[in-house]
Amino acid sequence: MGAIARVPFDKSEIDTLRYAISISEEIISDHYKLSTSQWKRYRYDIQSLKDLEEFEVIDEAFAQIHRYARSPHHKLRGSETADYFKICLQDHVIRHAVQRDSSIELLPLATYIATHELIHVVRFARFIQRFESSSSEREAEEARVHALTHQLLLNRKIRGLEEVLTAFKDCRTMETFTGMG
Ligand SMILES: [Zn+2]
Repeated sequence: MGAIARVPFDKSEIDTLRYAISISEEIISDHYKLSTSQWKRYRYDIQSLKDLEEFEVIDEAFAQIHRYARSPHHKLRGSETADYFKICLQDHVIRHAVQRDSSIELLPLATYIATHELIHVVRFARFIQRFESSSSEREAEEARVHALTHQLLLNRKIRGLEEVLTAFKDCRTMETFTGMG
């Protein structure tokens, strides 16, 4: 992909991203029928470049999902343990995809990415999918998550979404996974 300057989203891009995340969270809680309190038990954050540690930044994918043994801000009771997933969005890679193709806009692309990553997180948290898996398992899981993302976003009224669904339906550089290996 060559070197892309690691420039964080500006204020207006962040506003668009926040909107995309709120759409995605609503879609996911509807689909998995999650109440607000259930939803809070999924310990995750979606963060963008300005809030990432250097080792959380990559240039090869739209996101990196880091699994940590504990969350920086979710208090656990007693001996309770829970994985914490940090979805690290790579602003520069996402922006590059928008700039390289005039039919791709940030809102639908960010909605696609956030929805896709949240599906991964829910499936990990519910142990539908193991975090550590072989490359063939991972490929099969990636195809399932793309298909589900497509299904959940189809018919949503977001300008430019159809173009994104077509262009990224089997994108192979959505994210990488790391942590607690
Ligand atoms: Zn994926």
